[in-house]
Amino acid sequence: MTDFAPEMDSDSSVYKTLLESTQAIPWKIDWASMRFAYIGPQIESLLGWSPASWVSAEDWASRMHPEDRAWVVDFCVAQSKAGVDHEADYRALTKDGSYIWIRDVVHVVRNSAGEVDALVGFMFDINERKKTEQKLLDLQKELEALSFKDGLTGVANRRMFDSILEMEWAQARRNNQPLSLLMLDIDYFKQYNDHYGHMQGDNCLRQMGQILTSAATRSRDFVARFGGEEFVLVLPETDEASAAKIAERCRNLLFKEQIPHANSPTSQILSVSIGVGTIVPAHGDDPIAFIDKVDKRLYLAKQNGRNCIVKAG
Ligand code: GH3
Ligand code: MG
Ligand code: MG
Repeated sequence: MTDFAPEMDSDSSVYKTLLESTQAIPWKIDWASMRFAYIGPQIESLLGWSPASWVSAEDWASRMHPEDRAWVVDFCVAQSKAGVDHEADYRALTKDGSYIWIRDVVHVVRNSAGEVDALVGFMFDINERKKTEQKLLDLQKELEALSFKDGLTGVANRRMFDSILEMEWAQARRNNQPLSLLMLDIDYFKQYNDHYGHMQGDNCLRQMGQILTSAATRSRDFVARFGGEEFVLVLPETDEASAAKIAERCRNLLFKEQIPHANSPTSQILSVSIGVGTIVPAHGDDPIAFIDKVDKRLYLAKQNGRNCIVKAG
């Protein structure tokens, strides 16, 4: 290992002290031999490898995470050949076998003939920053998921329903396919809360979310909490008869659970009323009007004594 910048005069020890007291780790590679001419002693405290162990560019490449190695080496070689200063982030292997994120900032030094003579650069420890970035990304993903999810039941929320309906509406219109919508409302839920308490009411809503999820079996079937104790199912490529069957399935699955509702004027167990609608959307049709139509059927189901389904006809 030779000394960095041997052409320096008495000032060189000042430069050396300066270079070796920074957080960033300086290094120099001779282009012709691809060997390290210098690497700052700080490398040992960061990665555990002694400065003397950095002999050739091979040592640099081999102490890189296998997933980063190919693109980083290719990128740095290409940039260097083109004489372009560059930087790369990668995970460097430590002597104890773990990895640390490094940012390598590289300057290409040319000789008087304009040919590449050497590479000099600094390695920066960006591990904490990368970890924070990753945490932020994870949090962002979580937040994104949460913003489409109903916090109580875990099924999709109203906002997600609006987007999905709009998307499926456009799809059904393009393909001239029927799209069905179920709107469900728990019967006498106010009495349920009054009798069993709000916490039990919340449990009941969670259970309802699970039941409806299990009733909607096709991959594009979609369940959401519309609000309060009302739920919706969006059923793409589903005609009237199939939608009616799924509405029956919802009622049956709920019936099987036999959730007690002692104060229900309808029966002694929890029940729902369901409105069902099917449309092949055409020009001039509007999802809001469709929701309204299905909601009116739900209202009719309530008027008809609850615990029942109202569909077209
Ligand atoms: P109907 O058969 O006509 O639907 O009667 P209902 O009592 O279910 O209807 P109403 O709309 O009058 O009452 C809905 C009740 O749902 C009132 C409200 O306290 C309850 N509710 C709405 N959201 C929640 C919730 O998040 N948790 C609980 N426990 N109850 C809720
Ligand atoms: Mg209601
Ligand atoms: Mg209700």
